[in-house]
Amino acid sequence: MALPSGCVASVVSEWFCYRVTVLLDCWDVFCHASRKAMQQIMEEFGVAQGNTFPIELGLSDVKIKRVVVDRLGDYHLYASCTARSTCCSRCGKPITKSHGHCKESVIEHLPILDRRVFIHVQWSRFVCIDCDNKTTSLRPNWVNTTGQMTVAYENFVLKCLINSTAKDVAEKLRSTEDIVEGIVERRIA
Ligand SMILES: [Zn+2]
Repeated sequence: MALPSGCVASVVSEWFCYRVTVLLDCWDVFCHASRKAMQQIMEEFGVAQGNTFPIELGLSDVKIKRVVVDRLGDYHLYASCTARSTCCSRCGKPITKSHGHCKESVIEHLPILDRRVFIHVQWSRFVCIDCDNKTTSLRPNWVNTTGQMTVAYENFVLKCLINSTAKDVAEKLRSTEDIVEGIVERRIA
């Protein structure tokens, strides 16, 4: 039954509806803020969203710029070098005078979800004025002595070799026997 406008019941009803509307608006704002806060917390702590999650590579001096998946499904991580200094390879002193970049290095890292992972980076080069302007390129301690794979990858290959031959491991990791044997020679032999 419609209430005559201006009567007390109508005023109370309108006031009530207004309050309910305001309360619902507040609830919406609260829910939105809660969702946003929760999302920020999840992002901060790297918690999974949907079916993806960030991976901490644990590699210093690089910043990943883009990731490309090749036709074999392998990951290629294109990174820039963030180092501001290195140590002179002749005198050992810290050097900060920049001298361009090296050619691109392609460094194999630990596989992710059974896909090979390659980091592409051009290492920064520095010059030492105390050593007749000798240049030294950065080589972070996570890169192996050949500059073609990470120390973590070498360790992984050595672990795979337990109770397996170099041929088996090369096949499983889609690598070559030469590469696997090279790791053994450098690290164990
Ligand atoms: Zn020097």
